[in-house]
Amino acid sequence: MSRLEMLVQNQLLSAIEVHYPDEIDLFEIAYRLQVLVLSKPCLSTLSGTANHPVIVLDNRLTTAEQRVQLAHELCHFVAHSGDQLFMSPLFRSYQESQTRRMTMYLLSPTHMLTDSLNAMASQHIHPLLSVAQSFDIPYDFAKRRLDLYRLEFTRPVKSDVFTEPEQQILFA
Ligand SMILES: [Zn+2]
Repeated sequence: MSRLEMLVQNQLLSAIEVHYPDEIDLFEIAYRLQVLVLSKPCLSTLSGTANHPVIVLDNRLTTAEQRVQLAHELCHFVAHSGDQLFMSPLFRSYQESQTRRMTMYLLSPTHMLTDSLNAMASQHIHPLLSVAQSFDIPYDFAKRRLDLYRLEFTRPVKSDVFTEPEQQILFA
């Protein structure tokens, strides 16, 4: 397990009891971490203070898209502190790609994805659609997740330094 996936496991998924994809309840995780989640017709953000964090979720998006954004902001919350407004663009984009990868691990942990893919292989189901459905994630997100999954299996990822193919997935 990469350091980033470990962080997701220890800081976010361990907050609740999770065994199956449909148990990844982000609102419950936010509640356990005492993060207030508000639903508004504006861009999703993480704000508030360290003691009173607030995530605003863009309610104009689909449920699956909101799920990705909530996961993204929760990952920022546990991994990054500091206002990105006062950050160099390079460091900000590094944090963003880190967060994109963490979001994938949060919404579809590697071991669950492996189980799902194994089950699908025996039933001859198309993986992409099925992964999107069972993990309740948008189709394009599922595609990037599977790309990352395959990449990590061909070249196990130990560091947080992204290779070029990883960047293509994470910045797409
Ligand atoms: Zn972000």
